[in-house]
Amino acid sequence: MRKPKHSETVLNAFPVESGEMLIGGIPITRLANRVGQTPFYAYARQKITDRIAHLRQHLPEKIRLHYAIKANPMPAIVQHLAGLVDGFDLASGGEMRIALDTPISPNHISFAGPGKSANEIRSAISAGVTINLESETELERVAESSEKQGVMARVAVRVNPDFELKSSGMKMGGGPKQFGIDAERVPDVLKRIGELELDFQGFHIFSGSQTLRAEAIIDAQEKTLELAYRLADAAPSTVRKLNIGGGFGIPYFPGEQPLDISPIGDRLADLLEEKNKQIPEAEIIIELGRYLVGEAGIYVCRVVDRKISRGQTFLITDGGLHHHLAASGNFGQVIRKNYPVLIGNKMSSKKHEPVSIVGPLCTPLDLLADRVELPESDIGDLAVILQSGAYGFSASPQGFLGHPAPIEVLV
Ligand SMILES: *Cc1c(COP(=O)(O)O)cnc(C)c1O
Repeated sequence: MRKPKHSETVLNAFPVESGEMLIGGIPITRLANRVGQTPFYAYARQKITDRIAHLRQHLPEKIRLHYAIKANPMPAIVQHLAGLVDGFDLASGGEMRIALDTPISPNHISFAGPGKSANEIRSAISAGVTINLESETELERVAESSEKQGVMARVAVRVNPDFELKSSGMKMGGGPKQFGIDAERVPDVLKRIGELELDFQGFHIFSGSQTLRAEAIIDAQEKTLELAYRLADAAPSTVRKLNIGGGFGIPYFPGEQPLDISPIGDRLADLLEEKNKQIPEAEIIIELGRYLVGEAGIYVCRVVDRKISRGQTFLITDGGLHHHLAASGNFGQVIRKNYPVLIGNKMSSKKHEPVSIVGPLCTPLDLLADRVELPESDIGDLAVILQSGAYGFSASPQGFLGHPAPIEVLV
């Protein structure tokens, strides 16, 4: 059996000129000089713009697109996205500060996540951001803070659905979960909201992440809308917003193919007709993180040593799991698989060899690529990890072992 390979679409996503990968039109060696250090993350602005255009082309016009900031909270990226998406979804007070610095209206910003602090709740209410209620305790806290401030809080109910997103990388709904309020409890919660002085917006139903199968996403969207119609009967006022989650994945590993969004768009167009009968005032929101930014980003580190141990070649770099936990296989993977890697300054080289790419940390977990075929390379070359625009920089334990932090640039 042939070993599965990384998708060609992924491996050839960035143009090449004179053997150098171009990011934002800049040859990688030159970009490394411009940044002033390795390791660094570089995000291609145009790729983010193109991705949103692709979505708009395939999804019904009425669908509101939100960016889930936790995928990549770099302020420059969030500012760039502010001009392209319809709203933001937050998961912390820190993300709220970044979002409120952009021109996006707080009316199009929502704040989800369990265990919101009193400060976060107060800030969100005074900012006019919609709070997606994660528990009945949180509902009472929001109502109390709202009354104290004399500002009516905007709230939506985050529902823990009675189904899950099939074949997804991370299931975030269905069964017992720390996220949202169990669907069967929601009618009582809606009744309670009606008794309080709160500005009810609607529902947030997020069933999972990182799916590459259109049918699984369509299935979840159908079930999400059905659930929302049932819950809407008990709503204290008109449902104005329905966030149906996202879950659009990107290919990370060998054998994975990009998600085809056109069947999702086609089916959504049909579903919106029924929605217009059931909850006509509700705008339908899709929230996406990695799908918007993941493929636009690369992580670049420099080979600082090369050694052969009992027949296996190791490229030792100045980057590692402390900067890019996901590529090391330690961010929610069950079985370690390689991210797509390249030697960014040797793109046209024909002579290949099997190598492992590791970092400087004293742990065998610090493995960025395990026995991959790459152009023969040496000290000074630039190793590039693709698909690194989401859950990279901000999702890595940068303090671990006390090495310097990487830099992030948007080009
Ligand atoms: C993390 C998260 C997202 C983004 O997930 P991606 O897989 O990056 O698209 C969206 N919504 C919620 C509620 C989340 O927690």
